[in-house]
Amino acid sequence: MSLMNRKQEVQARVAAACERSGRKEEDVHIIAVTKYVSLETTNSVLDEGLLHIGENRWQDVKPKWEALHERGTWHFIGHLQTNKVKDVIGKFAYIHSLDRMSLAKELDRQAGALGMKVKCLLQVNVSGEESKYGVAPDQFFELAAEVSKLQHLHITGLMTMAPYEMEADATRPVFRGLRELRDELNERKIFSYPISELSMGMSGDFEVAIEEGATWVRLGTVLVGKEL
Ligand SMILES: *Cc1c(COP(=O)(O)O)cnc(C)c1O
Repeated sequence: MSLMNRKQEVQARVAAACERSGRKEEDVHIIAVTKYVSLETTNSVLDEGLLHIGENRWQDVKPKWEALHERGTWHFIGHLQTNKVKDVIGKFAYIHSLDRMSLAKELDRQAGALGMKVKCLLQVNVSGEESKYGVAPDQFFELAAEVSKLQHLHITGLMTMAPYEMEADATRPVFRGLRELRDELNERKIFSYPISELSMGMSGDFEVAIEEGATWVRLGTVLVGKEL
């Protein structure tokens, strides 16, 4: 199937999930995850009008970013080691994987040195899987309160991943859990501004994530395919 066909198919599925849950399509944005495809294919993804690109390792994305960065908006969605902050800061418009205070402090310090604010999402390990990164739900508000004191971070939302092997429908409580954390964060007014984004849903479960309130879905295999 061509990229154009896959895009149309995915957009139809996004539209249907919005319809089922009474949401507006314009509130759901697609991040094309290009970590499994070449620079050439990433170029085609941008040609197709998919302008939000997600990648999870700087070593792998570097040549793509260097060649193509002006054409799109780049999202860092992978685990970020503190000593790799220097590679991604200023290059990625959003960091989806802020999950601990040491990382928050380093991002804040380097953003401050550059005289900028960096947009981040707080990653939560809602499912509690041991293999997943993300702050545990019972430590989430504490982390949020600490992060809210940092001047050079702007928290736009929350991010989670459901277990890969789960049937799509079994992921629903994970996504619902993230939405509830976001709502409670706003009720408690931990940040001085509203937090709206929910980055959740991948190839196997994005429709359920949309039904539960996703505003960003991160789609690799189903949308751009897998070559590498
Ligand atoms: C790889 C990856 C995705 C996309 O995965 P697919 O299942 O291929 O859609 C989404 N989010 C994160 C954090 C990833 O690492």
